[in-house]
Amino acid sequence: MSSIQAIRGTRDILPDEVGYWQQIEAIARKIFATAVYQEIRTPIFEQTALFERGMGEATDVVSKEMYTFTDRGDRAITLRPEGTAGVVRSFVEHGMQAQGGVQRLWYLGSMFRYERPQAGRQRQFHQLGVEVLGSADFRADAEAIALATTILQALGLKNLRIELNSIGNGDDRQKYRAALVNYLTPHQADLDSDSQDRLTRNPLRILDSKNSGTQKILKDAPSILDYLSPDSQQRFDRLQQLLGDLGIVCNINDRLVRGLDYYTHTVFEIQSDDLGSQATVCAGGRYDGLVAELGGPDTPGIGWAMGLERLVILLQQIQPAHPDPVDFYIVSKGEKAETQALVLAQILRRSGFRTELDLSGSAFGKQFKRGDRSGAIACLVLGDAESESQTAQLKWLKSGEQSTIEQANLPSMIEDLRTQISRLRNDG
Ligand code: ATP
Ligand code: MG
Repeated sequence: MSSIQAIRGTRDILPDEVGYWQQIEAIARKIFATAVYQEIRTPIFEQTALFERGMGEATDVVSKEMYTFTDRGDRAITLRPEGTAGVVRSFVEHGMQAQGGVQRLWYLGSMFRYERPQAGRQRQFHQLGVEVLGSADFRADAEAIALATTILQALGLKNLRIELNSIGNGDDRQKYRAALVNYLTPHQADLDSDSQDRLTRNPLRILDSKNSGTQKILKDAPSILDYLSPDSQQRFDRLQQLLGDLGIVCNINDRLVRGLDYYTHTVFEIQSDDLGSQATVCAGGRYDGLVAELGGPDTPGIGWAMGLERLVILLQQIQPAHPDPVDFYIVSKGEKAETQALVLAQILRRSGFRTELDLSGSAFGKQFKRGDRSGAIACLVLGDAESESQTAQLKWLKSGEQSTIEQANLPSMIEDLRTQISRLRNDG
């Protein structure tokens, strides 16, 4: 019978890779705690209408990439393609604005998009993201961007570029949209077909086109930055100034946009040259109209999301996988010895030692070989003689030094063992 394989665009994160994921999660969790961002976990599926309203029906994600199905109760359901809509739904549903002040939330989880799978692009992928709700201040934008850079720095990632833009307020954008359409209309026939389509539906998204012909035409297109009102301009200037004060270097990129009406002011992306064509590791921006669009009270917001698969690819380039180190490897043979071995393993494990118990029942030689391969610092060895005398051999694998210990004494030796193990581990 043929075996069943993982679905196209999904993959298993195997034990030799999972350490990178745990590292990212641990670092992010720690950094979010220092900034007093709170974790939120929302469902993996939602009503389809949430994403249609939250992301806009004209976006590629909603029009082409959603995993949508009808459940047994005839509801239109979608596996979440991103995190913001669910977090904002939850914010509104639980009346979080009533708590006053600013809600600083972060999330981590699987997202689903029906895309063409390639390196750094999957159908089930993972995002780490933040949403800051309730502040329209430019300092919230700077804080969110700084948080993203702090995480990336803590991971040791270098060669990252931050692209920054402002798309102003709704009025600014309306004027710019008209200017852009005005400029592009005479070139309509030479645009790629998606862009032709967008010219009426969502012209700002044309700036995103990867088509080289379209990009050539866009070279002389008007810049959004020439359409910012004095207030929007001042806000953008102050943000840049503050980011500069924080030592965060940004490239101003007037081609970076979001197509939808509820996006305002700040847009940014963090990119890497080490990822091939899937260069963006983090994307975010301000969405002052989204909460109201989803039926909540008028509440400004800013957020970003990082693609974890892409972070893992970058981490793998700069550091080798290091499996969890083993402290003790326990070798035993003979019925009585094998049971005693488990008792000793439990004592060591309860004291926090990483302790691997050989369950093979094979000859001592074979068990020792596995012990060596495990990278353990020390072995406990129990055979018939030891089980009779209630002892064990404690063998330090690097030096080969060996001594007999009383099983009953093991609990009183713990602190001493801890010191020796950490010394030997630090010696490499
Ligand atoms: P892209 O241009 O790469 O398709 P996007 O604009 O669709 O990105 P966002 O919706 O802004 O991406 O998502 C934020 C981040 O999530 C991206 O910058 C990327 O790191 C990651 N991401 C998005 N889609 C995928 C995917 N299919 N597989 C893996 N990571 C993804
Ligand atoms: Mg995409």
